[in-house]
Amino acid sequence: MPYFDHNATTPLASTAREVWLRTNEEHWQNPSSLYRDAAKARLRLDHARARMAEYLGAAEKEIVFTSGATESVHAALAHLAAQAGPAAEIAVNRTEHSAVLSAARRWFGSRIRWLNTDRRGVIQWNELEQKAPGAAAVVVMAANNETGTIQPWEKITELCQRERVPYVCDAAQWLGKLPAGGLGDADWTFGSGHKFGAPKGTGFLKIPASARNFSAQPGGAQENGHRGGTEDLASILAMVEMLAEAEHRKVLLESERLTWRTQFEQTVGSAVSGVEVIGAEVDRLWNTVSLLMPHGASQRWIAKLDKMGFAISNGSACATRKEESSHVLAAMGYSADQARRVLRISSGWETRLDDWLGLAGAFAKAAPELAATENSDVIKV
Ligand code: PLP
Repeated sequence: MPYFDHNATTPLASTAREVWLRTNEEHWQNPSSLYRDAAKARLRLDHARARMAEYLGAAEKEIVFTSGATESVHAALAHLAAQAGPAAEIAVNRTEHSAVLSAARRWFGSRIRWLNTDRRGVIQWNELEQKAPGAAAVVVMAANNETGTIQPWEKITELCQRERVPYVCDAAQWLGKLPAGGLGDADWTFGSGHKFGAPKGTGFLKIPASARNFSAQPGGAQENGHRGGTEDLASILAMVEMLAEAEHRKVLLESERLTWRTQFEQTVGSAVSGVEVIGAEVDRLWNTVSLLMPHGASQRWIAKLDKMGFAISNGSACATRKEESSHVLAAMGYSADQARRVLRISSGWETRLDDWLGLAGAFAKAAPELAATENSDVIKV
């Protein structure tokens, strides 16, 4: 079934699978043990850390392997809250992932300076300039999981450096899709391997070199003392290999993928009248389309397209099961009624043009059928 929910998670890539299996067969020893076979595992761990650092443009010592983005952001904000003291306020973008929002609320309570976006999902620069100075940190993601909207994270890095405010950048959706270089200039950056073909439960946090006392969790001396617990070497190596693969692919394929997505948007636009591509005017991830449908609740579209062989989503997979309505769309100025009609479509590197066009065809076929049943529902009522 063509899978269009890569922003929720990606299938395990064959490269990741091979690396994972080989590492578990050949280097299953504990990297902290003292015999030679363990030292070989340790060497691989060190090498993976060096590669990760190089892709991000960070120092090796600044990379802490974690279980993923949620753990990373909680650990980062807990550290920042403890450093900044009980009165400190943090500046947080309203369209962050719920993992980030809940970490901000947990560690800073109501001491949050909210940063608003415009209707396309881009951070309002003047407000950021006003609210950043003196904050314990500025938290703005690289790219949004629901709409694909890209934030000006390089400019934000510069602003934060100028203002001497730590910048926390959620790169979970950026990594594996667009070049990682430069993300290491943000003080704190994090991501999850399963968003780009690696196993679930592995990720990283880039910390600033100055955070020598940072501890995600106490335990052994693993991760340079920053995170206790035996490392999952196989998954870490798989994640770094997948990042390497994406770094090579993107040069060749990104613009082609963007063309395919545009073709999809145009085809759906002419087949279903009144459909809106959210954030159409701004830079978005090449793989993501957020569609505001003219009619039909998102669940009905999802069920219909599922039966036709396509897996798509509404907002963020992690949020949709509990959230009444997307906080991201609300922050962008969409009403609850509109948010109910929004669909998220997110492709992967393996998605072909035929898959996109097949999905567009399914939309064209489903639209009149859904409209008809919706009208008959209305008549029944
Ligand atoms: N941040 C973003 C932008 C995400 O899309 C996600 C997952 O959907 C997360 C954070 C949380 O990642 P994980 O569930 O892997 O910890």
